[in-house]
Amino acid sequence: AGIAVCNLGHAHPRVVEALCAQARRLWHVSNLYYTQPQAELARRLVEKSFAERVFFCNSGAEANEAAIKLARKHFSSRGQSGRYRIISMERSFHGRTMATLSATGQDKVKDGYLPLLDGFDFVPFNDADAVAAAIGPETCAVLVEPLQGEGGVICPSPGYLEQLRRICDDNGSLLIFDEIQTGMGRTGTMFAYEQSGIVPDIMTLAKALANGLPMGAMLAGEAVADTFGPGSHATTFGGTPIVSAAALEVMKVFEEEQIAARAAETGAYFMSRLKDLQAAHRVIRDVRGRGLLIGMELSEPADAVVRRCLERGYLVNCVQESVVRFAPPLIIEKEDIDGLIDVLDQVLPG
Ligand code: PLP
Repeated sequence: AGIAVCNLGHAHPRVVEALCAQARRLWHVSNLYYTQPQAELARRLVEKSFAERVFFCNSGAEANEAAIKLARKHFSSRGQSGRYRIISMERSFHGRTMATLSATGQDKVKDGYLPLLDGFDFVPFNDADAVAAAIGPETCAVLVEPLQGEGGVICPSPGYLEQLRRICDDNGSLLIFDEIQTGMGRTGTMFAYEQSGIVPDIMTLAKALANGLPMGAMLAGEAVADTFGPGSHATTFGGTPIVSAAALEVMKVFEEEQIAARAAETGAYFMSRLKDLQAAHRVIRDVRGRGLLIGMELSEPADAVVRRCLERGYLVNCVQESVVRFAPPLIIEKEDIDGLIDVLDQVLPG
């Protein structure tokens, strides 16, 4: 699925059909007006999630920019402009615009762009005590990926997300989940937060939302979203009818074909095959993940394995130098996984 984007594969016939039909009707309308595909898409996203409102944009970084702005405005519009700081996680990835780079917990992507935006505090992922120690009267929000993707496919420890919810509530801060990589069925539920038993105040989506067309979204409950009125925040291209029509069809396919549940089932199969491989190759230090977002950590750099897979026709990706990240389309068949396992068996050292 590329970098967790084409969750329904390339050129899914139903999405192609919806896109072509919309292309013959209406391409772009400024967001001074509603359009039917956009409104229907927003309604479906709201029905499927905790949220009550949706803001559409063009990328993950833009969705996170919107979330950062909304969190700050939520408090400044209540006379608390000193409440602007955001706690973010080490090894997180939130995008490459200046604000989202500022929110990202990896120095390598910030190199050469300093100074960045003020107001971000970093703590280790999976350490709720560190969040409790860092949070204060100036903290407007805690921003977290419910499962770190670029950071090495790191799952949340049991109870971690629930603890973050409690810490935010006690401090009156907002909880923002970046589900740009984990959303849209990737981890075996439509959104990863559903596996935690709690809900965030704001959630961001992009990547697989329109299955490869550029689209991002910020979702929030009414009480938080209300802070944005007409003119507070906007974008020329966000949620155009043509992209919305594609994303709407994606949502319909997800629902009718139970794609998230399928990802959970295929993911369990993939994981068990990788665990078998681990028993045969000592170089595999760990296999982890949720649904079809799986990391295989090696005890050495993984670039040679990535290259050898490519030579044999399999595109896999390496994060944090030694972790091979698998993010196949959610419609993948078990035979395709078997094919990859055979190749991995050939290319992995003993
Ligand atoms: N947030 C997360 C968790 C991501 O994985 C990414 C991209 O990899 C982004 C944000 C940025 O999204 P985009 O590249 O669409 O701006």
